[in-house]
Amino acid sequence: MQVSVLASGSKGNAVFVAMDGVRLLIDAGISATRIKKALAAEGVDAADLDAVLITHEHSDHIAGLRTLTKWYQLPIYSRRATLAQLPPEIPEALRRETAGAFRIAGVQIMPFSIPHDAADPVGYRITGTRQVTTCTDLGFVTSSVQAALDGADVLVLEANHDPAVLKEGRYPWPLKRRILGTRGHLANADAAWAIARLQKPPQQVFLAHLSAENNRPELARETVATILARQGIDVPLAVASQEQPVRLHC
Ligand SMILES: [Zn+2]
Ligand SMILES: [Zn+2]
Repeated sequence: MQVSVLASGSKGNAVFVAMDGVRLLIDAGISATRIKKALAAEGVDAADLDAVLITHEHSDHIAGLRTLTKWYQLPIYSRRATLAQLPPEIPEALRRETAGAFRIAGVQIMPFSIPHDAADPVGYRITGTRQVTTCTDLGFVTSSVQAALDGADVLVLEANHDPAVLKEGRYPWPLKRRILGTRGHLANADAAWAIARLQKPPQQVFLAHLSAENNRPELARETVATILARQGIDVPLAVASQEQPVRLHC
């Protein structure tokens, strides 16, 4: 299995997951050129992707999608309301509407709803011989999200901001309120508690979608690690980056 967070943050998101011979891209929020190059660096031809899974229609998750599908005609999976928000240039024939769990070859993909200010945003639980779950862009961890996170071998989880840094920062108040709200973004400590509440700790956690303005990689790692250590939980943490791929082979 391979999980590579190609880019993560408010300037663009894309995650590559290969499991049991199935190659998936979750979100295409960086340019198609960057996706192509980043995949090539992973030893993967973008043309060989089996599917692109879209979490929601915000531009930091779909900015490269139109060009990527123009080049490679990849099937795009998402909820109906999200598909309806995609650029009209993306052919209908490539759009695959998902409601519940579906399969691509031997891999099961379960979308689960997350609270965020988009049409019908989701996280994805990808299960084959291993399990990878991605969950970013959520205001808080609902009980159904908490349940969906359990069992992941590898978890890509949002650790967006530190509320104190955000409150003191230079963002205008309406934007602060949006980020802090129940349909905004997940704070570092909330990510930590979601991990702490799992029945089975993951083998690896990627802290993802860090705010460039209201967080720092060391602060996210330190906040999460401190809360987990106090609970007696030891989980390897990697911090995803906006600029560089962060990868795991296992
Ligand atoms: Zn986002
Ligand atoms: Zn979003």
